[in-house]
Amino acid sequence: MNKTANLPPKPVWKCGKCGGELKRGTVKISYLGNDLRVEELKCLSCDLVLITEDLALGKMFEVEQSLEDK
Ligand SMILES: [Zn+2]
Repeated sequence: MNKTANLPPKPVWKCGKCGGELKRGTVKISYLGNDLRVEELKCLSCDLVLITEDLALGKMFEVEQSLEDK
């Protein structure tokens, strides 16, 4: 068995809703009354935004921190 022979193909991001192509871009989201600009994958066909958990949680954590400082 050659383990390196079956490398998974490079992931292609596709919209879960319409199957359209997802492209990286700046997306505006609202959280706790704050507008955040994050770079995320967005569907070219239906404008569905794919928010990756790591990024979203990181950003939202920052907002929560800054709110607590006030
Ligand atoms: Zn779509």
